[in-house]
Amino acid sequence: MTDFLSQHQRPSASIMLSESAQEPSAITLKEVKFRWPKAKQAILDIPALTIQAQQHLFVKGPSGSGKSTLLSLLTAINTPEQGSITLLGTDICLLKQGQRDQFRADNIGYIFQQFNLLPYLSVIDNVCLACEFSRQRKQKAMAKHASSQHPIRSEAIRLLTALNLPTEIQTQKASHLSIGQQQRVAAARALMGSPSLVIADEPTSSLDHDNREAFIQLLMQEVTRNQATLIFVSHDPTLEPLFEQSIDLAQLNQGKLQQSDLIKEGAQA
Ligand code: ADP
Ligand code: MG
Repeated sequence: MTDFLSQHQRPSASIMLSESAQEPSAITLKEVKFRWPKAKQAILDIPALTIQAQQHLFVKGPSGSGKSTLLSLLTAINTPEQGSITLLGTDICLLKQGQRDQFRADNIGYIFQQFNLLPYLSVIDNVCLACEFSRQRKQKAMAKHASSQHPIRSEAIRLLTALNLPTEIQTQKASHLSIGQQQRVAAARALMGSPSLVIADEPTSSLDHDNREAFIQLLMQEVTRNQATLIFVSHDPTLEPLFEQSIDLAQLNQGKLQQSDLIKEGAQA
């Protein structure tokens, strides 16, 4: 990454995805450039992006446009050669690898495109796993069920039930689930312990349209309850109206996004 070619300065296009100046920003990118090893050009070149806390943001873009790459930066899995990424007030580029891993475990619920459930564990154990790597999330989950003998399991069951996963499924092994059920389990795991950022990478691509909408509604309800910020990435433009705000990665990239391109307010579910 060190051989990244420096490029001449462009005027910075600051993109604020909120009307409210009071809300603290959840995510701030400045002059971020990222190039995969061996690639000739940067796949991402984002002059500026600010996402305010508690927003529900849809990020659209065709396959191959760099959506998953962007999420790998927003989850501190990869770091840019250039620029800064501030998540919840922390400049993650300044953290060491281990610190970044812990930051991710504490603050980010990630729903993978392929869900990444452990097939040999039960549904409930898959969901509880999110608290194994984060004392902070464990404590938050426990605080919700202070009178329960098994507060972590109680929170897992609450989330699974809220996401419409029937009780009898909850004790089954993850390998026995349908795609739609796996998706709900992955969402419950991401929401365990109320992480401040919930990030979803095309989790609905294998569902039919009605099920996609239903899933997104449930996800949003829980994200709102936790006062978290939701970043939802998809190549499917029909999902866009479900979100308060959206950005087109192709336009955001290389600073082409204009304020008028943002879809604001009034999105109906
Ligand atoms: P999207 O999620 O929008 O489909 P990606 O971020 O997965 O797009 O990919 C964008 C580009 O980055 C593609 O050209 C892809 O080949 C490349 N890319 C993605 N992941 C890697 C990787 N791990 N190593 C090298 N190149 C990659
Ligand atoms: Mg992708």
